[in-house]
Formats: sequence, structure tokens, C-alpha cells
Amino acid sequence: MTEQELKIIKCQNLKQKPSKDQIPFGRTFTDHMFIMDYETEKGWYDPRIIPYAPLTLDPAAMIFHYGQTVFEGLKAYKTQENSILMFRPEKNLQRLNLSSERLRIPKIDEEQVMGYLKELIRLEKDWVPSTPGTSLYIRPFIIATESNLAVAPSESYKFMIILSPVGSYFPGGIEPVVINVEDQFTRAVKGGTGMAKTAGNYSSGYQAQANAKEAGNADVLWLDGVHKKYIEEVGSMNIFFKINGEVVTPELNGSILKGITRMSIIELLNKWNIPVAERKVSIDELYQAYENGQLEEVFGTGTAAVISPVGELNWLGRKMVINNHEIGELSQRLYDTITGIQQGNLEDTQEWTVEVE
Ligand SMILES: *Cc1c(COP(=O)(O)O)cnc(C)c1O
Repeated sequence: MTEQELKIIKCQNLKQKPSKDQIPFGRTFTDHMFIMDYETEKGWYDPRIIPYAPLTLDPAAMIFHYGQTVFEGLKAYKTQENSILMFRPEKNLQRLNLSSERLRIPKIDEEQVMGYLKELIRLEKDWVPSTPGTSLYIRPFIIATESNLAVAPSESYKFMIILSPVGSYFPGGIEPVVINVEDQFTRAVKGGTGMAKTAGNYSSGYQAQANAKEAGNADVLWLDGVHKKYIEEVGSMNIFFKINGEVVTPELNGSILKGITRMSIIELLNKWNIPVAERKVSIDELYQAYENGQLEEVFGTGTAAVISPVGELNWLGRKMVINNHEIGELSQRLYDTITGIQQGNLEDTQEWTVEVE
């Protein structure tokens, strides 16, 4: 891709910004969006920031039929000094390209897109909320736009970035969740698309999630698709267990999404000299540890909540109550450290944050 000039068309009438604290996730969008197009002969072209508006697409656009699409999710935070920090955004753009490779979508130039992203956030800086726990959620995504019902990769695409201010994930304080260990449905299998952030991975989980919710659970914990034995991850979170002093998380095997929060937690634990292992964890091992009183903490990790403690796991009618439904000491320390760095309240010794100047 050659260097291309970013065009900016500003909004005439700015929207009303939401009131500070209780902003529901993903329903409010800022005044502008970023968009660029791709055609096989031209590559990516016409990068532009324009007023946020609906798209017009042909009903035969390939995205509607075969789901050739990828996305990312990251956040920008306002510090007390009024600067804006993004958390490891280069990792998200790298992962977007990995997802694209799996779906046969053309890659973006990560450095150029980082420049466009910064420009968009600079323009929308008044939309970054400043109350503790709030942030601006960033959703880059790519869709296949060719009008063609053939089952084949599209010859044209749109790459877009939209922004959505979000309230605190835990408005009433951190509350451990109840999770069902899914024994019937499968999220992803070896050789499938589990490692890609692509639409079909999520809608295919809705039925299991609905069943789990009916039974009083917040989400499901997926097991591997072959043996229904090894733990993979939660709906949109990776999972960690503290077993007898050691932190364990399922190893990346191609069907698990490689979370950036997961990666950051492993790096922090290593820095703190707390033993951490990436390996296979079977549900039987977990239950055994529970029975032996060694299952000390369980927490999910992802951009949305950072750390989401699990207070209870339900597995085939068996209930594991973890740490008396309370957040564990290590979960709390990890949460405080990562959110402290993200919001600029703690020194960023790992150089994780990127300032939008
Ligand atoms: C996005 C996502 C995660 C978490 O990744 P982060 O980079 O930490 O936000 C975990 N699992 C799935 C399935 C996801 O889509």
C-alpha cells in the first residue's frame, strides 16, 4: 500500500454526548467514523474520516451470505491530566491481520492504520469519558463487499473504525459471575477459526449462552471440541485458574483467541515472580483441585472487563463455589495494576500504553 492522504470531512451538527456514568455498552457512537476501501486491482485506497452514518450495500454483498469479516476491540482512556491513552493498540492491529489471513481478507498496513486511528480519536477526543472505569471503545472491522453469491473470497472490502463511549463494566463494584461449563455445544475446533476474531464464532455460541442464562448463569465456559475435556475459554474472555498457588491458563492451541489482556497478565505474573503456566487444563483436573480445596481463584480476562472474577462454576449438575463468591487477592491485584496503567494512574513500566497526542 502506498502512502495515502487521509481525507477528513467533519460533521456539521455534533450529537449530544451521553451523561457521564451509566453508558450502556455498544449503543452510542461518536460523530465520525473511519473508512477505507479495497479492490483487488487497487489495494486499500481512499482512507477518510467522515460523519458517522449508515452504509449502503448491495443485498448480494458477500458479508451477508458467507460471513467473510473480522473485527477487533480495544479501548482509549482519559487520564487525570486530560491526555488519552490506548492500551497496546499495535497488538490489536497485528491480531486483525492474523484474523484476516485466516478468512482470506487482504491485510492492512498496521502502521498506517495506527496513524488513521490516532487521527480519528484526536478528532473525537471530547467523546472519551473521564469518570474512573469509563473509556472509549474502539471497534475496527473489515467486511466483504463484492456483490456475488459465489462461495469464494470477495474482490472488494471495507475497513472501518467506529467508536463508542462505554461506562464502567462494574458500576456497582466488581461482582464475581456464575458460569456454566458447556457440555453439549462447541465454540471452535482444532483447525477451525477459533483463533480469529470473526463473526461466526460469536453467533454460533448464542444457543449455549441462552441455555446457560435460563439456568441462572452469566455465560459459558467452553471445552475443547474433540474430547469435551480440556478447558478453552469463556464467551469473549480467556480464563485463568489459581490452583494451589500456581496460576494456570489453557495453552494457545489454534481454537482459543489469543487475548491481549491474557498476554499482559502472563507478563505481569512473570514480572512478579508468581508461577504461571500455559498448558492443557482438563475439567476433571479442575474439579479434583476444587474437591481438594486447591482451587483458589478463577477469573476471565478481556478488554471489556479486564478481570472478571468467577464465583461459581456449574458442571453437569456439580457446583464449584470459588473463594466464597468473592474476588480473590491476586485477581484484585491484577485488576488494580492493569486498570491503573490503562488510566495513567500507575507507572507504565512495560510501555504498554500509547498516547494519542
Ligand atoms: C476478544 C476476545 C478475548 C479477549 O481478548 P482481549 O484482547 O484480551 O480483549 C477472548 N476470547 C474471545 C473469544 C475474544 O473474542
